[in-house]
Amino acid sequence: MTIDLSEKQFAECIRDRLVRQLIAANEQLEQFATIASHDLREPLRIIACFSDLLEKEYGDCLDGTGRSYLQISRQTAKKMEAMVTDLLEYGRIGENVERLQETDCNEALRHALVGLGEAIKTSKAKIQSDSLPTVFANSLQLSRLFLNLVGNAIKYRQDGRLPVIHISAKDNGALWLFSVQDNGIGVDPDYVRAIFAPFKRLHSDDQYEGTGIGLAICQRIIRVFGGSIWVESVQGKGSTFFFTIPKHTTLTESGQDEERSSD
Ligand code: ADP
Repeated sequence: MTIDLSEKQFAECIRDRLVRQLIAANEQLEQFATIASHDLREPLRIIACFSDLLEKEYGDCLDGTGRSYLQISRQTAKKMEAMVTDLLEYGRIGENVERLQETDCNEALRHALVGLGEAIKTSKAKIQSDSLPTVFANSLQLSRLFLNLVGNAIKYRQDGRLPVIHISAKDNGALWLFSVQDNGIGVDPDYVRAIFAPFKRLHSDDQYEGTGIGLAICQRIIRVFGGSIWVESVQGKGSTFFFTIPKHTTLTESGQDEERSSD
């Protein structure tokens, strides 16, 4: 028996298969996240706990070098625990895409700035924001996006220059084009793409603390919203992180794009 598929039916078959593959990939990622949370955290907790015990009960027997080795072990266990936590957050971003809804970006930014209160105060950062639109997104993830971008703009400030950060949004027809501009240290042009990869860092912990997942989280959030993110930068002068959010697409429960009726 031969079954004749029209071009439309064929395209639908391919699309359904891709959606099924996407759902399976997401499930695998979630499973991985659960394994990371339980199986990796436990040994880390034990390392940290026994390092503490070693210092408490045998600290007097160690010289300065021995104590510094112990401190490095403890700090490394702590850092790895932070990385596992970040990886978990990264893995969970794709969950609940059906919960995207009308979200006020001004409100999301305001929440992010509350979270950055201490950093803004100590760095004396000046934050300027234009009026931002309402977009189809997830409010918690949108806040997280602003928190990471503005937080980085403060963290990677230039010595001897007060950080000035400007957030704006431009109507680009089918999408909104956002920018977060800073006057910080800038990004090496060879790494403007690489910095969006998980755990990719251009600096050591001694220079700037971090796990290197902040921008990877931003990229994943923006992909869930259906947009893209990139950076333009001049070293020593500053960086502008751009991201887009489409205006008229929504995601159905199966994760397929669908045209929204404009109101
Ligand atoms: P982290 O800040 O923990 O290293 P991120 O993923 O947020 O992780 O950033 C990755 C790298 O990108 C940083 O290590 C830094 O080198 C660079 N970077 C990010 N934001 C900025 C910025 N606003 N100015 C300069 N460099 C930045």
